Amino acid sequence: MARSLSYISSSQLISIARNPRIAIIDVRDEERNYDAHIAGSHHYASDTFSDRIPSLIDAVKGKDTLVFHCALSQIRGPTCARTLLNYLSETKEGSEIKNVMVLERGFNGWEASGRPVCRCSDIPCKGESS
Ligand SMILES: [Zn+2]
Repeated sequence: MARSLSYISSSQLISIARNPRIAIIDVRDEERNYDAHIAGSHHYASDTFSDRIPSLIDAVKGKDTLVFHCALSQIRGPTCARTLLNYLSETKEGSEIKNVMVLERGFNGWEASGRPVCRCSDIPCKGESS
């Protein structure tokens, strides 16, 4: 099954973020540790992303939509999303994943628009705070 990469704005994401079938994948590197993050997002740093795809697929079991972002979603977010798409097209894994998206303007745009952020240090983030 061919999947393609699409983009989603922060206002579109906030309207669907409570859907339990959506997972947000943060691929920032060490910035995640001193910046805030989107509540409930998974963290798969871009520098080790390829090696951790099997664990990512495991972590998002039951989800059908993955939304990637980095700080600006210009390089790392789309690159990791495409890496995942290539992996999925070459294996039979992750067949539940129907949509792979990139959050426009990344975490920085999300935060600058006044969207809720989480500052917990839980791994993984439980996503309850705002
Ligand atoms: Zn958190």
